[in-house]
Amino acid sequence: MEANRRSKISIISMILTMGAFILFLIATVINHSYSQIIMFGGLALLLASWAIFFFGYKQPQIPIERVLTIIGCKNCDYKEERQFMEGDYIFKELGPCKKCSGLSYIMGIYSVTIKKE
Ligand SMILES: [Zn+2]
Repeated sequence: MEANRRSKISIISMILTMGAFILFLIATVINHSYSQIIMFGGLALLLASWAIFFFGYKQPQIPIERVLTIIGCKNCDYKEERQFMEGDYIFKELGPCKKCSGLSYIMGIYSVTIKKE
């Protein structure tokens, strides 16, 4: 699966790079006021191909760790999950609940490892 996905990414980024060079060629061959726009298009394609290559090809090997904070309410069953923020700790009070305006607090903090495929 992984190898298949990688070869797809390489093919896509290769096609984009080729497309960029074709656009560059067209831009240099035709002496038109559009040639600058075509040149920019080629540049954008080139950048896109690099971005696809780097983000799609290299990142999946590094698992991403995310720390989440669970917010609950002392008054009702309201629950929310959000990205951990500095200063978060368990049982920290967070002010009025979004649902019932009771007191909301941090119920738990946990980390998850996301493996991108
Ligand atoms: Zn509540």
